Amino acid sequence: MRYSKQTLVKQIGAENQKKIEAARVVIVGVGATGSSSAEMLARAGVGNLVLIDRDIVELTNLQRQSLFTEADIGKPKAIAAKEALQKINSSVNITAFPNDLDYDNVNLLEADLILDCTDNLFTRFLINDYCKKNKKPWIYSAVVGVQGMTMNFLPSSKVCFNCMFSLVEGIETCETAGILNTVPTAVTALQVTEAFKILTAQKARKKLLHIDLWKGAFEEITVKADRKCKACKGEYEYLDGKKQEIIKFCGSSTFQMKGKFDYEELKRKLNMVGKVVDMGICFKFSSMIIFPDRVLIKAQNEQDAKVLYSQVVGN
Ligand SMILES: [Zn+2]
Repeated sequence: MRYSKQTLVKQIGAENQKKIEAARVVIVGVGATGSSSAEMLARAGVGNLVLIDRDIVELTNLQRQSLFTEADIGKPKAIAAKEALQKINSSVNITAFPNDLDYDNVNLLEADLILDCTDNLFTRFLINDYCKKNKKPWIYSAVVGVQGMTMNFLPSSKVCFNCMFSLVEGIETCETAGILNTVPTAVTALQVTEAFKILTAQKARKKLLHIDLWKGAFEEITVKADRKCKACKGEYEYLDGKKQEIIKFCGSSTFQMKGKFDYEELKRKLNMVGKVVDMGICFKFSSMIIFPDRVLIKAQNEQDAKVLYSQVVGN
């Protein structure tokens, strides 16, 4: 039997394995932590996995994003991850969304559990709002340098991510510190272990866990509720469509811009002036990858990205 080593673990057993196989888990972001968490969940037999990622595989990702190989460079991460996972476990039902999670498609999060494997605060606030409003559990994870953090947010939790924002603010940029590739694996081992507890209705950790992998140090931190927290009061700002216009992706020179344009018409037009590489769900043109709802642009800075966008896509 495929999962015999897992059902032998007394905390799992045959009954809990059935719960795992019936579960639906959403993974937001399939970079380093997302790759690792998705792989462990697929190997453990989680019945339904939903992968959401707006990014494209790049050479610099391969140092730590374990589902990808050199052959995947240029592919949307969600699609490449699905292909890799399907080879690992063909019995898992995997849905890939190469989309930017935002207020207008936030229902993609509909599941038994949501894993935050993103690298940005905006998406985490959005997940926090969605999960508070819909009483869904989610697990935060973040990595930078040699450090990582993770915390469970359950419908019964007295605190939310918005409450503890000031605590985690400092760990929110991988731009300057980089990431040691052992850290995402360590953090996701903790994240996925908590996922097994939550999916099988067992008691999960309540505190924020901070690890410094270089020192081999683990620290549990009690997070206090913020009496002024809007999400805890039922004000869900991020579900209302207050959004970022331009986003710079962590650790790369890629900018994302959103706008309204006729995708097919733009593809046809650009095909007449230059080389368009059709990638199915998106196409490449010059230093851009164009999706129906957004554009990824390689540029030195935000200003250059805006100029390129207006030259190629229009306003
Ligand atoms: Zn709160």
